[in-house]
Amino acid sequence: NMLYDVNRIREDFPILKQIVHGKPLVYLDNAATTQKPLQVLKELEKYYYTMNANIHRGVHALSQEATEAYESSRIKIKKFINALGKNEIIFTRGTTESINLVAQTYGRKNFNEGDEIIISHMEHHSNIVPWQMICEERKAKLRVIPIDEKGELVFEEFEKMLNEKTKFVSIVYASNSLGTVNPVKKIIDLAHSFNVPVLLDAAQAVNHLKIDVQKLDCDFLAFSGHKLYGPTGIGILYGKVNHLDSMPPYQGGGDMISKVTFEKTLYNELPYKFEAGTPNIAGAIGLGAAIDYAEKIGLEKIARHENELLKYATEKISELKGLRIIGTSKNKISVLSFVLENVHPHDVGTFLDFEGVAIRTGHHCTQPLMDRYGIPATSRASFGMYNTFDEVDVLVNGLKKILEVFG
Ligand code: PMP
Repeated sequence: NMLYDVNRIREDFPILKQIVHGKPLVYLDNAATTQKPLQVLKELEKYYYTMNANIHRGVHALSQEATEAYESSRIKIKKFINALGKNEIIFTRGTTESINLVAQTYGRKNFNEGDEIIISHMEHHSNIVPWQMICEERKAKLRVIPIDEKGELVFEEFEKMLNEKTKFVSIVYASNSLGTVNPVKKIIDLAHSFNVPVLLDAAQAVNHLKIDVQKLDCDFLAFSGHKLYGPTGIGILYGKVNHLDSMPPYQGGGDMISKVTFEKTLYNELPYKFEAGTPNIAGAIGLGAAIDYAEKIGLEKIARHENELLKYATEKISELKGLRIIGTSKNKISVLSFVLENVHPHDVGTFLDFEGVAIRTGHHCTQPLMDRYGIPATSRASFGMYNTFDEVDVLVNGLKKILEVFG
């Protein structure tokens, strides 16, 4: 059941050929960050070799070329998530900055004493702390949708939580620790029936699920380029134009203005109002190249390949005695979290590293979620488009060895 030739794809990722501790690298830490194909690296190189200049306002050739490349990447991203206009696509440093932007602008303007902001128990710290900060400042209250043992939201609790005090809902589309894909369309529709806007943290969703912001009807959507085979330091905030128009700027500086005097500054139009200072030009161009690359292979094919890896890995590790999977929803992205009895996740990670296997161990920036399960940490394997079934076997054999030694 070849969806595509994985070995051919692996040729595009030179880093995967590395030897680690004398073993071939098995990179299973894709939820933390994905590797970058040659097509992205070449685009970054081309930019710095032939095009590097500051963008917007430059009349010289290089500046115009760089501006053109930067703005055409914005259009690619607009199409990629099916936004209505390119003015709804704001370049940021990543998911974290995108969420902070909304909390600090929309939140500061609209949240008041006694208002309620809803998140869930499975949020990444970057979708908790920014809301805590603005709630403290505006004396609003943070409310948390509980999750069940499988790692799914308890939807009835969300229904009960919504009321006339609710001012915002911010929810992870797919959990980085559990893999759970949340019923975001249902959440959005219900929130909208209370006139409450919804932000989706799509950091883990963009490279696994086809996203159509118009169909979803989300108000905001945040993601990072580096989890989508693009560079670090670049990300996206999508926002509906009516929201973005009514929000004050996030940071002040160059590019976000239309006219500055000491008495008053007039702000630039969207999306530039939210892009103060020289942006990550190369990063934006690299992200465009990453999207081209993923779309050429086909997002749906990639998702199916990853799902098969997840299914295979889940079956294999379920056979291991003394191993418990954390996050057992039927609807998951290719994230596999687990704990071993008697072995600390940190030791699992260290042991596997000696086998050449890169996984993540720790709380995955979801400490409240770890508390919910009464564990300090998990071991997490996460699969990308270039991973193979053989690599899953290497992981499983490594785990077997650990259980023999420590079990
Ligand atoms: N949300 C989720 C669900 C994530 O997985 C991550 C990255 N681990 C983030 C937010 C934060 O993304 P970044 O660090 O790229 O800003």
